Amino acid sequence: MGMERIAAMLEIKNIQKIYEHQLLLKGISFQVKQGETVCLLGPSGSGKSTLLRIIAGLEYPDGGDILWEGQKINSVPVHKRQFGLMFQDYALFPHRNVADNVAFGLRMQGLKKEEIEERVRTALKQVGMEAFAHRRVTDLSGGEQQRVALARALVPRPRLLMLDEPLGALDRALREQLTGEIRSLLHHTEIPAIYVTHDQEEAFTVADSLVLLSDGRVIQMGAPDEIYNNPGSRWVANFLGMKNFLKGKVISQHPLTLETRYGMMKSSYSRCGNLGVGEETELLLRSSGARVVPLEDANCGTNCLEGVVEDVVFQGENYRVIIVCGEKDHFQINLENRPDVGDRIRLEFEAESILCLE
Ligand code: ADP
Ligand code: MG
Repeated sequence: MGMERIAAMLEIKNIQKIYEHQLLLKGISFQVKQGETVCLLGPSGSGKSTLLRIIAGLEYPDGGDILWEGQKINSVPVHKRQFGLMFQDYALFPHRNVADNVAFGLRMQGLKKEEIEERVRTALKQVGMEAFAHRRVTDLSGGEQQRVALARALVPRPRLLMLDEPLGALDRALREQLTGEIRSLLHHTEIPAIYVTHDQEEAFTVADSLVLLSDGRVIQMGAPDEIYNNPGSRWVANFLGMKNFLKGKVISQHPLTLETRYGMMKSSYSRCGNLGVGEETELLLRSSGARVVPLEDANCGTNCLEGVVEDVVFQGENYRVIIVCGEKDHFQINLENRPDVGDRIRLEFEAESILCLE
């Protein structure tokens, strides 16, 4: 393979959509490469489904282009795009059995009976449902119905697979299991895919690449770990579940030292580098960089927070501890040992775990 660039299969360029004189999609651009799973992650109402319908050809954009292998496909009708779609409401035909549901699209294409049977068998095997071929779909559980819907989306061998919150209706354990299975299926088949979800854990599991959407705009994109390690804004950090924010003002640069309402904080986070003296920034204190230090008579030093334990939540591997500092600032950290509610606690943060946000 080497260092060669993998070409984009699908290219979305500056897509805009207007509804009732409102700009709903505000110029969205991203790419999907060969074999890659791109996850569109954003809160409900951020425009994910609208964008997916435009890519599928079910709706027309008011601005921008959709390219497949460099060719504009804005005007290509849905069925000629050869994109597979899977939605949360699987819309299987209730009076047909599993195999007939999966075979439906192939019959429409006029394929030979033997080929249809062979392809249906393969698709059902890929989703672990080969033993269910002759079951009525109404006798299946929600998770099994979603597997059938996935087989039905795969069987025409789409050039691109699009999944819109496919597991949204399932309970957590089943969702986790199916997310893992979809991940390995997509990697195994090497079908480029767009996976839409509002759930960050699901997104981290399936995505090679993440596109974060909010209010019809791309807020940040990149590999999941890159985004997690370098959230570009407070909004991103908050959406990914990070909680510890604190305003700071730069008072000197090497090392970067900031004044906050809880004393001085030094940061060695590389992306803080271009902040000038006097500038204000939002700091993110990473829970993973915190350790409990003994309470002493002296005040807290640099990179230190002191507060009272307000709540302790058991999480299996550790405890999530909520600490109140001052009047009403809440911070969260994970600790192996359970403190008591009401305990006074002092934390010290490593300089590399203090990030600057916008
Ligand atoms: P998501 O899938 O991220 O939840 P949607 O794409 O479904 O977001 O919707 C984005 C916004 O567009 C929502 O505020 C929704 O109310 C609005 N919207 C979606 N479809 C239409 C439509 N056909 N007419 C008017 N508004 C719409
Ligand atoms: Mg949606």
